[in-house]
Amino acid sequence: MDIAREGLERQRAKRKRVARMKKLIIYTIVTFMILTICIMTFLCVEVVSLQRQINEISSRIATTEEVDNPEQMSDEGYLDDVYKVDNAENEAKEGDIPMVYLTFDDGPSENTDKILDILDDYNVKATFFVVGQDTEKYGDAYRRIVEDGHTIGMHSYSHKYADLYSSKESFEADYNKIHDLILDTTGVDTKYYRFPGGSSNIVGKCSMSVFINTLNEKGAVYYDWNVVSGDATSRAFTADELVDNVMTDVVKYKTSVVLFHDASNKDATVEALPRIIEKLNEAGAMILPITDDTTVIQSVNVVQ
Ligand code: ZN
Repeated sequence: MDIAREGLERQRAKRKRVARMKKLIIYTIVTFMILTICIMTFLCVEVVSLQRQINEISSRIATTEEVDNPEQMSDEGYLDDVYKVDNAENEAKEGDIPMVYLTFDDGPSENTDKILDILDDYNVKATFFVVGQDTEKYGDAYRRIVEDGHTIGMHSYSHKYADLYSSKESFEADYNKIHDLILDTTGVDTKYYRFPGGSSNIVGKCSMSVFINTLNEKGAVYYDWNVVSGDATSRAFTADELVDNVMTDVVKYKTSVVLFHDASNKDATVEALPRIIEKLNEAGAMILPITDDTTVIQSVNVVQ
């Protein structure tokens, strides 16, 4: 009897041990799973917040560079990766006469008169996308652009990306300022606009479609470019290289809108300009100012 009870007791104790072991194993597994889920959730949250911080920092860097170093600011710099013009329809074919539009951004400057003299020497008309300057100092330059028969367009008043692209209101206020400055100084009610950084820049907080719509509301049309001279890149090209840059690309298109800069530190542009005009003439190109008939070259299509 005792032996039977002892056996029974032993079995019961064994079952208890097994049950305890099972419980322990289940607890361990559950704890491990909960821990894993916690760690994974924590890591996911960290990754998302880090990504957000990286985005903020990189947009801040881009904006600060622009505001702090307007002279070194490169319209093209922002566009190296994002700028795409659909040139499929615009490819030059055998026998096409290249239509070339020379455009000068960021003026007027101390170089404006030199550029205008060269254009005058060759009897060539171009397009100037101007910014807001002191009219006491540069009033004559704005007027001479118009009197010499060139097209004058807007390139924002402030050219400060951080302010300009901060909201629809700030963009519109800046538009009105540069539009009225040109109207009051030259009498021209211009509708041509070039976005600082181009229409596909990624610096602003708002989508560019907000600003494109603002231009639509005002009946303005914006022009990007499909040929870069290279006079605003971080690398300082020589005049010879600027000539090569322009001539290499101009032959590819029916319509070429060439980006130059009219700024006081752009001496290579002034030096290269006569040779570029001569080479374009030799190539049988037509050099024209932007008008309502010009093929619109835009990197982003109008978003309604
Ligand atoms: Zn510019």
